[in-house]
Amino acid sequence: MDKIVLASGNAGKLKEFSQLFAGWQIAVLPQSDFVSEEAAETGLSFIENALIKARHASHASGLPALADDSGLAVDALGGAPGIYSARYAGAGASDADNNRKLLEALENVPAELRTASFHCALAFVRTPEDPVPLVCTARWQGLILNHLAGDQGFGYDPLFYVPSEKLTSAQLPREVKNRLSHRARAVKKFEQLWHEEMVLPEQQQLAGSGKTLL
Ligand code: IMP
Repeated sequence: MDKIVLASGNAGKLKEFSQLFAGWQIAVLPQSDFVSEEAAETGLSFIENALIKARHASHASGLPALADDSGLAVDALGGAPGIYSARYAGAGASDADNNRKLLEALENVPAELRTASFHCALAFVRTPEDPVPLVCTARWQGLILNHLAGDQGFGYDPLFYVPSEKLTSAQLPREVKNRLSHRARAVKKFEQLWHEEMVLPEQQQLAGSGKTLL
């Protein structure tokens, strides 16, 4: 395998995942090289949506594909906005609209009950019908403030307070966010999974190829 497709047009994600695969001499191509239409995210979980996106990208390109799906789950809201994080305030909502809606939804919720987690799921398929995809998830726990703080990052970063750092995700230096975040942790797990499922079996096969079974 020398090429895979990333099921996203996001330049930041492409850069992040290209770095991950660079060490393995695998080129990461954007899905937009093959298809302009994004997959409909009809799953009920981050994992299902990541798989739907990966299968769609693999089908369109004829190559193995990697996809991610992420979002914010707020405990006091039963896990909302969850998989609907990007469109919490409606289709085409801006980050500011989504943050405003979240502040309103939590208006009467006291500080100790404003716990929340960012979640990230990664899914890798070798073919569109791959029956044994590589899947991993990770989370990043924090609290939702009652005001915006910080101007870095995107999405819900200005509301997501990270207790260990005493800052919001939008106030953290980028290298700190890139070490602590749900995406960073999922990528780390994925590296491990890739090694176990893709690298080791190949090495074992090579080592065993000189031996006869009987
Ligand atoms: P996606 O993974 O790009 O589909 O992200 C879904 C949505 O979840 C984004 O539009 C954001 O609203 C939210 N989200 C995911 N990851 C982050 C993050 O690291 N910071 C802030 N918001 C995030």
